[in-house]
Amino acid sequence: MLYIHIPYCHRKCSYCAFYSVAGGSDMERYADALCEEMRMRHGEVGRLRTVYFGGGTPTRMGRTLLGHVVEAVERWFDLGGLEEATIEANPEDLTEDFLAWLQEHTFFNRLSIGVQSFCDDDLRAINRIHDAGQAVGAVRRAAAAGFSNLSIDLIMGLPGQSLASWKRNLDVVDTLLSLGALKHISCYELTVEEGTILDRQLKSGRVRLPEEDDVAAEYEMLLRWCRSRGFVQYEVSNFALDGWHSRHNSGYWEHKPYLGVGAGAHSFDGRRRRWNLPDLKAYIDGVARGVIPYGDEVLSHDDLFNEFVMTALRTSRGIDKQCLATRFPEEAARVAAAMEKQKTLGLIEETEGSFRPTPKGLLQADGIAAVLLRP
Ligand code: SF4
Repeated sequence: MLYIHIPYCHRKCSYCAFYSVAGGSDMERYADALCEEMRMRHGEVGRLRTVYFGGGTPTRMGRTLLGHVVEAVERWFDLGGLEEATIEANPEDLTEDFLAWLQEHTFFNRLSIGVQSFCDDDLRAINRIHDAGQAVGAVRRAAAAGFSNLSIDLIMGLPGQSLASWKRNLDVVDTLLSLGALKHISCYELTVEEGTILDRQLKSGRVRLPEEDDVAAEYEMLLRWCRSRGFVQYEVSNFALDGWHSRHNSGYWEHKPYLGVGAGAHSFDGRRRRWNLPDLKAYIDGVARGVIPYGDEVLSHDDLFNEFVMTALRTSRGIDKQCLATRFPEEAARVAAAMEKQKTLGLIEETEGSFRPTPKGLLQADGIAAVLLRP
């Protein structure tokens, strides 16, 4: 698995706590640095099954620089077994020309489109650059360009959002389903991170969020909508038609090793987690000197167990008994005993091979994991 971080955005969304920057005068140097980091570190992973360009807004880089980075991926990695190559895209960048270029000149077979909402009021409230019409147009153009594996992001609980406006979102998704290309929906509840524009707006009283009960009702509506359209909730915030889950993100949740390149990108080799520092200038200058600034930690056996439990319980696959017995044999009996209580609460169901969360259990995944965590 390879992740490439491209931290540029047209402008900052009010809720955004990701490492991203508005602007991009150093984009060319950044693209060169990404290529150089791939040259330096390609030996850290074997044959790639998935590639993911995330951000920020990778499509903000434009054809020439993106093409340059794509070529470097092709040069330094074995793509013979590539199953899925995703690029995150914002609606405003998905013009017909750009989509045609992506199809003809790159390996991307999946687009993850940052829609967030199909309601103009919602989009204005969070400082998105696109409007609802552009979002609908982007999905339609991507399907028409031949992309048959599209994902959209939506956010529940936006400032000013009501149950009625949330329903309008789902109505628009309904109209897009007829294209046959929309296979995946990532739907998150808005979280307010310290230091974001939204955080300041809330503290000053300029903006108000919907009540908790209203957001819970939105979530219920989403679950009913997904069930009736054949979308399976395979992770707390991710829904897919049968067979169209994100292979790359599932790889993270299954603790597969991955290489992440770019400022702020994380890597994991099964034991050691490493993160390039989220500082563009330090990254570009560091790569030029052959010394990439990064931090790292070696996870203890308990850390690995805790991560295993927390991520497994956030997915519909749950805790795989065989995997538990192989990786953490000393924990198998304790987990089985703790799961008995969760079963009686209707939060976990036991199958021959797994302890998996029920739909109600998925909503309480962190609480269930908490009873299993090692101190
Ligand atoms: S487009 Fe995404 S990464 Fe960029 S500012 Fe908005 S939320 Fe953050």
